Amino acid sequence: MRAKRSKTYRKLMQQYGLAFGFREPYQVLVDAGVIKDAARFKMKLGQMLAGVVHGEIKPMITQCCIRHLYDIPTTNDIERRQKDEYIEVAKQAERRRCGHHELEEPLSALECLESVVDPKGSNTNKNRYVVATQELEVRQRLRKVAGVPLIYINKSVMILEPMAIKSENVRDAEERAKIRAGLKGRRGAITGEKRRREEADDDEDVDMPDRVKAIVAKDAEVAAQDPLAELPMQKKRKVKGPKGPNPLSAKKAKPVKQKSAGREVEDERAAVRKALKKDPQAAEKAVISGVAGDDGAPSEGPKKRKRKRKPKEGDGGASTGPGVVTGGDADSPD
Ligand SMILES: [Zn+2]
Repeated sequence: MRAKRSKTYRKLMQQYGLAFGFREPYQVLVDAGVIKDAARFKMKLGQMLAGVVHGEIKPMITQCCIRHLYDIPTTNDIERRQKDEYIEVAKQAERRRCGHHELEEPLSALECLESVVDPKGSNTNKNRYVVATQELEVRQRLRKVAGVPLIYINKSVMILEPMAIKSENVRDAEERAKIRAGLKGRRGAITGEKRRREEADDDEDVDMPDRVKAIVAKDAEVAAQDPLAELPMQKKRKVKGPKGPNPLSAKKAKPVKQKSAGREVEDERAAVRKALKKDPQAAEKAVISGVAGDDGAPSEGPKKRKRKRKPKEGDGGASTGPGVVTGGDADSPD
């Protein structure tokens, strides 16, 4: 069975369980057609049924339905063997007394199954039967009975029908009733956590031990802080992705600050260098004006080099004056 279909069926059976009280082992009524088709497709009927309803089953067959198998006419050995196989499978199921055995002819699957599933014609499946039938007519009729899981075989695939509208309506009404009962403070099927929250909403609650009161108070506190917690029926939406502000916008802030601080200094240096190119005295002026004050060392560099070169260019490097100033750096010809 495909995983998705399997999951759907499991959920479906859970809903039948919650809304209509279905429990394992599920009583599955099979008709002659299902037994025949299962054999035709070489399916192990019991295993397939259990797989579809996701649980233990108790296969059952009505007296009429097994008679349908006994009544299959045969003309040769192959057909006879085939028929024996059907009956063998049917015998593994529990016989469901439908009360039609005294009739000369068995009832049709439709009439028999209808009388077994809904004997009073009240459109309720009192005995919680699952019905596996190859007859569309039977399924159409039983969809009108609330809470009948219906199974059939379609091209070697066993299908559990989606819940019929009639059953869905009952299921939905049941859910609403449960919610309403829960809100009134009944302590039946509600879980502990939910119950506490409801008590927190309901101030009139009495006879609570202090320990419980503390928990209730804590819950109320949490609920007050978190607006979503006030809606017990709604799941809190998970926010996808990392928490906090957008990292793309958050990252920007720091580098911009560092850059602007660094750039200020850089701009000052650039201005000084530019000025020095035009006017060697500019550095001194800058020092005086305070621009290069906080960054003395680099601005001194170009100043010295300029001074060093200038005399070289001008005096041919003969003069010792500027060479002394810069120490060993000056490569005098000597
Ligand atoms: Zn019958």
